[in-house]
Amino acid sequence: MFGKLFGKKKTGPHMVHIEGVAKPIECDEKTFLLSAALRDGIPIPYSCRVGGCGTCKVQLLEGKVKEFTDKTYLLSQEELRANYILSCQCQPRSDVRFRVDGLDLSAEAQASVHKLVTRQGVIKALRPLTHDILEISIEMDGPMEYTAGEYADMRVPGVLEEFRSYSFAARPDPQRANLAVFHIRKVPGGSFTEWLHQADRLGARVELRGPFGDFRLRSGAAPMVCVAGGSGMAPIKALLEQAVADGAQRDCTYLFGARTQKDLYCQDDMAQIAAQWKGKFRFIPVLSNEPEDSDWTGPRGLVTEFLSREVADLATCHAYMCGPPPMLDAAIEVLKQAGISADHIHFDKFLDKSHLAKAQVANNTPHVGENG
Ligand SMILES: Cc1cc2nc3c(=O)[nH]c(=O)nc-3n(C[C@H](O)[C@H](O)[C@H](O)COP(=O)(O)OP(=O)(O)OC[C@H]3O[C@@H](n4cnc5c(N)ncnc54)[C@H](O)[C@@H]3O)c2cc1C
Repeated sequence: MFGKLFGKKKTGPHMVHIEGVAKPIECDEKTFLLSAALRDGIPIPYSCRVGGCGTCKVQLLEGKVKEFTDKTYLLSQEELRANYILSCQCQPRSDVRFRVDGLDLSAEAQASVHKLVTRQGVIKALRPLTHDILEISIEMDGPMEYTAGEYADMRVPGVLEEFRSYSFAARPDPQRANLAVFHIRKVPGGSFTEWLHQADRLGARVELRGPFGDFRLRSGAAPMVCVAGGSGMAPIKALLEQAVADGAQRDCTYLFGARTQKDLYCQDDMAQIAAQWKGKFRFIPVLSNEPEDSDWTGPRGLVTEFLSREVADLATCHAYMCGPPPMLDAAIEVLKQAGISADHIHFDKFLDKSHLAKAQVANNTPHVGENG
């Protein structure tokens, strides 16, 4: 059947067949495979959407695609040989067929795919959380439905035309559906964050697009281990708030990595979550650069050193992690070595331009990849 289908040369919208999905979807030559799938409610796992994390990899079985970034540093030799591609960076050039490892077509996963909307917003409140993290509350001209853990893209027309991604810092509240709250860390040399932190931006107009991502709480009774660093607190906080609202009974250990005491924040929120949590809940800040003679009596070092030490049943846990890519890469290794399967390790790496630069092919010279 496919031989006949793929033998025809077409330029219009192409048919995209996804293994396990009953009906093919349409995708034109200007649309990325991931976008087309999400548009039709097929929850392909993904995170950054810019070819920087590899979460959206799929195995191309038939057909031709145009690839917009270099995938070779993200995918293993085995995956490259097996014709894996990054679905967020590929547009079809013929009918295609691909397979998604661990595609979750459950009602829970499909319900998490929300309608993508674009909203105009105004910065209504700003609150310093630490010396380099601001909480920013945006009133939008309409609601943006999302699941705790997801993120939105933001830009400031006239100041920064490119979008930046920010994770919602609170669980969705139907009473305040037009409000979006984020925690934004100042990145030295960063175009958007330097602008935001430089002056009082109250009243500034922004544009939001979203929601995106598939970082969200999976139902189940397995104990949870959470890891975050810096503004990675935001989606973990949202996810924990959601778990409290859902009446989750499972145990949870949350390790938060910071440099010094002045980088700690949301401690009151964590105390509130601990008080409402039905199982056992522990929030453990770990400081990597706290002066030795300070009054800090908590753990010192890297969060990764405390995973096995603090969580006795680590192998049985489901992991949720957000924040700086090096911290997450190290934690993923520790969790895998402890015996947690990749299916149970969920994360959003806060990739920025410095991480993504090496993934971009010089001058955006795309190439056509073909099933080999
Ligand atoms: C899924 C996701 C969720 C995120 N959620 C959050 C969140 O909740 N909170 C948060 O604070 N951040 C979050 N981020 C990170 C955020 O999207 C931005 O990347 C970050 O705020 C920096 O934006 P910027 O415009 O200030 O910096 P950019 O201008 O993007 O620059 C970032 C850094 O890269 C350097 N740089 C710029 N261009 C290059 C280049 N060509 N080569 C090498 N280096 C370069 C800059 O000097 C700077 O140090 C998230 C990222 C992702 C992918």
